[in-house]
Amino acid sequence: MDLLKSRLFANITHEFKTPLTLIKTPLEDAIRRREPLNNQDFSIIYKNTDRLDNLINNLLSLSKLESSTLKLKVKRGNPILQISELCSQFKSYAQSKRVTFNFKTTDYRSIARYDHEVLATCVNNLLSNAMKFTDEGGSVELKAGVEESWLNVEVSDSGMGIAPEEQEKIFDRFYQVAEKDESHPGSGIGLSMVKELVQLHEGTITVKSVLGKGSTFLLAIPLDEITEASAKQMPEKTIFSKTSLGDRNGYIENPTGHQKNRNILIVEDNEDLLQFLTRKLEHRYQIKTAKNGKRGCNMALKW
Ligand code: ADP
Repeated sequence: MDLLKSRLFANITHEFKTPLTLIKTPLEDAIRRREPLNNQDFSIIYKNTDRLDNLINNLLSLSKLESSTLKLKVKRGNPILQISELCSQFKSYAQSKRVTFNFKTTDYRSIARYDHEVLATCVNNLLSNAMKFTDEGGSVELKAGVEESWLNVEVSDSGMGIAPEEQEKIFDRFYQVAEKDESHPGSGIGLSMVKELVQLHEGTITVKSVLGKGSTFLLAIPLDEITEASAKQMPEKTIFSKTSLGDRNGYIENPTGHQKNRNILIVEDNEDLLQFLTRKLEHRYQIKTAKNGKRGCNMALKW
């Protein structure tokens, strides 16, 4: 247990340290040179904050899975559209690694009820593994489709492949194939979590792989499909929307513009984040802030 714990700490620390270095270095550089960041710096910083975000989401899901408090949050959406948006976030990563990346689908219309976070975690983990274990000049492809109320996602890569005796074990928690070097950092959490999440959704995950040739991961998730006719009766707001990356400032633009008469109460205990959110919102909303939930509640009730 002690050995396992210290290996996990070492791996996770390394997973945090690399993206943090890639965020901190361009910032330190810009501050030292007293010059603004260029587009390349921005894209490196963005990509690495995204990596940290994924890692933290994985760790949070893991602790919820361990305490059996993770419950499915099923809501209405278009799974293929969601996957295509997840894929678009990997495009520049593939380009920077000189890996050809293709997304293929025949179907953009299926509307269904499913857990969006489960799908995002699975697709992100499979794609980042495919990219990580594929060298320059290789290729990664994601095919997605809906058939008889099942969502099928196939992630294949032309990377290093996995030996037959390892293929079962890679879904075990903290398991990593032995011959690893610094170019493939990891924690051995990703695939075990994908498997547990997929099982929670009553789906399946399997792998086919040939050592030295590449791997294909097949994900199948049952969907509660919504037919066109019933879809029209559902309220518009539950339809999957592109707000997360769609607008420039990271919050939803209001088409009417005049917002100063609207109030926003920000409850946040991190001083930097509180100031940042206030700066972003204060020119269009009346802002009040509270540093903890108790004060926030009181203010909300009095306001
Ligand atoms: P991590 O990638 O953080 O080590 P995972 O649970 O995601 O942890 O994967 C476990 C192991 O399975 C990896 O360390 C790697 O050895 C192997 N693996 C996963 N995906 C691939 C892939 N696409 N190609 C080759 N090996 C893979």
